[in-house]
Amino acid sequence: MDRIITRVLPADDESIRLGGEMIARGELVGFPTETVYGLGGNALSDRAVRDIFAAKGRPADNPLIVHVAKMEEADSLCFPTDLAKELMRAFWPGPLTLLMKKKPCVPDVTTASLDTVAVRCPMHPAALGLISAAGVPIAAPSGNLSGRPSPTRAAHMLEDMDGRIPLILDGGDCRVGVESTVLSVTGDEPVIFRPGGITREDIARVAGKCAVADSVMRPLKEGESAPSPGMKHRHYAPKGNMTVVEGADAEKVIRKLKELYDASKNACILCHTAHLKEFGARRVMDLGDSAEKTAHVLFAALREMDDEHISRILCEGWSENGVGLAVMNRMARAAAFDIVRV
Ligand code: AMP
Ligand code: MG
Repeated sequence: MDRIITRVLPADDESIRLGGEMIARGELVGFPTETVYGLGGNALSDRAVRDIFAAKGRPADNPLIVHVAKMEEADSLCFPTDLAKELMRAFWPGPLTLLMKKKPCVPDVTTASLDTVAVRCPMHPAALGLISAAGVPIAAPSGNLSGRPSPTRAAHMLEDMDGRIPLILDGGDCRVGVESTVLSVTGDEPVIFRPGGITREDIARVAGKCAVADSVMRPLKEGESAPSPGMKHRHYAPKGNMTVVEGADAEKVIRKLKELYDASKNACILCHTAHLKEFGARRVMDLGDSAEKTAHVLFAALREMDDEHISRILCEGWSENGVGLAVMNRMARAAAFDIVRV
């Protein structure tokens, strides 16, 4: 891939207009959303979408999310059911991606030849401005190199995309910090394929029920087909060896974290704020005092583990309720499902 100069501009009216023009011309632009930074291109252009896959090194069988600025714009891309429309009204703009039967205008490269398309209306004003300025739906996966933690700051995106794309719009830290909830709404019961900022409980309140695909919290078995292609790819892998420790009894969790730390070299404990002082002289990092706070800081923390060359990462989990499910899904994947339940 030819190296190009990557500009980072504060996301303001002028840079958003410029970014929109670039996307309309078929170029790629990095942009902030409320979840993570996205790597955007014209979702209806075969070539732009191929360029997104190339810039990330993303496997071609892992489809992209198409971003729209208004609910009505989804109608040009797919066939939303009544339930899908109800969920759009309840949660858009916001961190909820809906999988719906696609219309022929969506190129096969965008959906990895599936007959469904993933559509989301983001909440971040810069993202909404960019989609409107481009005048086309924007296909955007997370703006990291494939296999790296998703970027939650423009600087993280630059680390991965410098020399690969012409522009990144800097809108500061992403509020949610983990990617959107991916929800299949083609049948009667909505099914979560990837947990995110809109929780199972939120969805069930509107839809009456909501299932979670069981492969969300376990590795796929040999030969098992994934309901969502993203489930089968390795994710968010830090360079160090990571273990997650989780349990209702904080004392037991702390004891286990100490034991694993003391048996390792060059380790770091990532724990809840309330437990920071429990670890004496051991190296610790703050994951915040709620699952929401952990979602906000987790990917930055994993990048820091790499930057500091930490070889053993010991991470305190959260119970799998609310946003805790999204946090545990990301931690589990980063740790290659090495979870100790005490
Ligand atoms: P990312 O764009 O990196 O946030 O990843 C998008 C996620 O949505 C991946 O896990 C994809 O596998 C998933 N996804 C996108 N489109 C579809 C689809 N049509 N069916 C199932 N999963 C999808
Ligand atoms: Mg991603």
